[in-house]
Amino acid sequence: MTTPPAGQPRTSRYPEAQNIDPAGDLLEELEAKAPKRALVVFAHPDDAEFTSGGTIALLCARGWDVNMVVTTSGNKGTKDPEVTPQYLAGVREDEQRAAAAICGAHEPIFLGFPDGYVQEDDELRGLLVRQIRLHRPELVITWDGFRPGFNHRDHRNTGRATYDAIYPAADDHLYYTLDKDEDLEPFRPQAMLLAGTRDADYHVDITPVIRTKVRAILAHVSQIHGRTEEQTMQMWEDRAKAAREAGDENASPYRESFTKVILRR
Ligand SMILES: [Zn+2]
Repeated sequence: MTTPPAGQPRTSRYPEAQNIDPAGDLLEELEAKAPKRALVVFAHPDDAEFTSGGTIALLCARGWDVNMVVTTSGNKGTKDPEVTPQYLAGVREDEQRAAAAICGAHEPIFLGFPDGYVQEDDELRGLLVRQIRLHRPELVITWDGFRPGFNHRDHRNTGRATYDAIYPAADDHLYYTLDKDEDLEPFRPQAMLLAGTRDADYHVDITPVIRTKVRAILAHVSQIHGRTEEQTMQMWEDRAKAAREAGDENASPYRESFTKVILRR
């Protein structure tokens, strides 16, 4: 929504909305003040589970409605010279459906861009605007597309396009006007959690759902090379121990970390 000229009262399309207190716990604030709807937007099958699988499982266990958008079908994710991208896309979409079901989320939506070729452009932004207007999530979880340093192009572009879809496009009716043909109203989520971030300021204790997260990751059979639940847990414990010894005193497999973004409306 653009700022009204001086002298005119500001009108809100969210007269009932209670603003989120930045000092409170984000998930508790949202649960107290808004419908429990989340949209998860990532680039490849397995991105969501590795970065946020515990948080997604926790939200679902707490009664949230969680939809998941994947911008590619991960059709480059193999070293096997015999595998075609078409075949791999089918396999990985099935794995993502299984992982979403394990977490308790709805069946994922695949936007079908080729792995490695996600563009941060008006087409992707419009597709994401439509998903936001369709699902009306109060919380969006996506990649931190602004993280400095080395990053996967698809992660960066998916994160930035999601950010741009949320503000201002999805909430202003003159953007992507064909959505009106589907009776989709403008909408602005209240908050984002950015994954794969450098300076995390929000941490989710995923202890109660750690096994669900592991099982959701292991549903990506084509990517995990036969690892078991126990091996995965041990690998995470070992990595966290090494990170703590290297000075990251909070490193733990039992928490997921994000940058928190609160959006006023
Ligand atoms: Zn990825």
